[in-house]
Amino acid sequence: MLDNIRIVLVNTSHTGNIGSVARAMKTMGLSQLTLVDPVQKPDSHASALAAGATDVLHNATIVDDLSSAIADCGLVIGTSARNRTLDWPLLGPREAARQVLAESANYKVALVFGRESSGLTNDELQQCTHHVHIPSNPDYSSLNLAMAVQTLAYEVRMQWLEANQHPPGAESEYPLTEDLERFYGHLEQTLTETGFIIKNHPGQVMAKLRRLFNRARPETNELNILRGMLASIDKQQKS
Ligand code: SAH
Repeated sequence: MLDNIRIVLVNTSHTGNIGSVARAMKTMGLSQLTLVDPVQKPDSHASALAAGATDVLHNATIVDDLSSAIADCGLVIGTSARNRTLDWPLLGPREAARQVLAESANYKVALVFGRESSGLTNDELQQCTHHVHIPSNPDYSSLNLAMAVQTLAYEVRMQWLEANQHPPGAESEYPLTEDLERFYGHLEQTLTETGFIIKNHPGQVMAKLRRLFNRARPETNELNILRGMLASIDKQQKS
């Protein structure tokens, strides 16, 4: 899915920014970079700032105009340092990332970034299906180009991680109620055998222990450790 997400930089002036964008992308798992008419092609300065992401830089596609960069995309999101430049569908970074990830399952999607000096032109913004604005300080709203890319790429990654955290059919990490009940039964039995709980005067100990374990919410493997501990105490008691 992430391979269907393209970062498009329009008419970038500083090659250092192009390198920093490559790095920002790779840290978030993105790799598809398109440069529209860069003022200078990526040079050694770009490579230096790309650090370990020179592969993203070297694989970048260079095209002459925005329309060629987005022709094969089904969703095109233009970014703007200003809150509302045109009356266009405007998304926040999180909503935009959600839409980018969802639609990238079906076709290529693009996130388009403008010039350091003047952003995207109205004509370029009108070639986008949606706009996104990072809600920055209204008195100083313009982020560095690579930092704007980093922010949106991070949001995309958060959506991607969320979508991939609980793959369907994966083993549940928390035990079922019946497993917990078996553990509480075992705990009570062991604590009674050791004399910690007095059979005829059990008091509130088990209720308090249940509260403690519920608060900690042991994972399946942690519950197995607790059962193993009880079994080792039982063994000691019997010998
Ligand atoms: N002076 C320009 C700002 C350009 S900043 C202007 O007023 O438009 C360079 C690019 O970084 C912008 O074109 C945009 O792609 C991105 N960017 C910077 N700040 C942003 C913000 N707050 N929200 C979304 N994108 C931003």
